[in-house]
Amino acid sequence: MTQQQSAELESLQQACSTCCDCELAGQRQTVVVGRGNPRARLMLIGEAPGADEDAQGVPFVGRSGQLLSQLMAEAGLDEQRDLYICNVIKCRPPGNRKPTAAEIERCRPWLKRQLDLINPSLVLLAGATALQAQLGIRSGISKLRGQWQDHDGRAFMPVFHPSYLLRFRSREVGTPQHLTMQDLKEARRRLDLLADPAVTSTSGS
Ligand code: URA
Repeated sequence: MTQQQSAELESLQQACSTCCDCELAGQRQTVVVGRGNPRARLMLIGEAPGADEDAQGVPFVGRSGQLLSQLMAEAGLDEQRDLYICNVIKCRPPGNRKPTAAEIERCRPWLKRQLDLINPSLVLLAGATALQAQLGIRSGISKLRGQWQDHDGRAFMPVFHPSYLLRFRSREVGTPQHLTMQDLKEARRRLDLLADPAVTSTSGS
């Protein structure tokens, strides 16, 4: 990331934090823009901030965020170094309801600017809202999770949303947490390939 891109990201952060483009602005405490390494080649896009994120202004810091951090670490991904994390929409919907189509469209330019500036090669889409917003696919995550989808010069992988994973604590083979660990390890593998294309692996594509 050049100095100019860093400055643009800073100005995006500033401008986004005072956005009043939809009615969620009147109900939020903070705008939750993003966290992590803006130079990362891997981005994770979730759905929308929850109560903890709204209070702290940082994505994925509540219970689902803690689980996400734990799974990332176990998969060998260093959140501070390897990842940039954000959401489809930047303000908390009241009562944690799903974002409406109109809210997603209003917020889309912010996410687009984040993608353009951070320019990740790999993107994890956490949950059905991110999958639909980004790739226009309405399918459930179970069918598509773990499969890279090439789109606009990036590789996108749908993964289960961490708040869904909180419902299943088991790590038995075939459980959502077990499958997600496989997906995150696959993301780790692709990241390693980007760093050193000479490294080959026998698993995944
Ligand atoms: N769920 C999300 O989708 N994003 C967050 O930041 C927190 C919970």
